[in-house]
Amino acid sequence: MKLRRITRKRATDEVYEALREAILTRGFKPGERLQVEEIAEKLGVSLTPVRHSVQRLCTEGLIEIRPRSGTFVATLTKDDIRSTFEVRCALECLAAELAIPRLTAKMLGEMDECLVLLRKAVTSEEMLRKHELANSELHRLLLEAAGNQRLVEMYGGLNAHLTIARIHASESRKTETAFQSKEWLARFQQEQAEHEAIVAALRAGNVSLAQTALRQHIYRAKDAMMATHESVSERGNERVSKTKGEVSPSVRRRSHS
Ligand SMILES: [Zn+2]
Repeated sequence: MKLRRITRKRATDEVYEALREAILTRGFKPGERLQVEEIAEKLGVSLTPVRHSVQRLCTEGLIEIRPRSGTFVATLTKDDIRSTFEVRCALECLAAELAIPRLTAKMLGEMDECLVLLRKAVTSEEMLRKHELANSELHRLLLEAAGNQRLVEMYGGLNAHLTIARIHASESRKTETAFQSKEWLARFQQEQAEHEAIVAALRAGNVSLAQTALRQHIYRAKDAMMATHESVSERGNERVSKTKGEVSPSVRRRSHS
């Protein structure tokens, strides 16, 4: 576990940012137990800002406090993924409705830049990363174009959960170069067509068409992520049954709290 040391004041904000970053960049893994004392020591702060930050992250759903058990990085269930995507869909549809009357040539030009990058073939992990960034950027531009700060904040809160879901999903493509598989290529082409349809509908100023395109895109992404989550969970269960009879690392960690 790596955490950068806190040097500035406003310790709670700093600790909160450091912990959030560590969760969203896999510094802490989903389901990992968090020790408040250990974190405070590593960051060079007292226990109070760590406790406050843990509470805040708990409200955001990134951390789970389980009574008589401890504090853990949140893990997502299939149901969490489904409900998060449903809300995401509603927020993006609202964003489209609000954004269309406000869209400028500059905003559409920025969306086009994302599309140009998304059209490029994915041949490496680095390119895959660029694609993921352009994908997020395209959706961020839509949210920003809506001109509603509250909407942007709510979307930001959901993004944290989607990132955790992606962390789960990315565990499944560690061993193989998944982006070379036929299945992945088909999904990639479909996603591309969906992005093009969204931007075309926004450009045409057609709210209902934009919402239909967004719904199709987001629900397809939801189904894909739920399917990946299922296969990752199954693999997880296999691992558990293979080590039956031994003390699993998580149980061992739990015993000296
Ligand atoms: Zn997208």
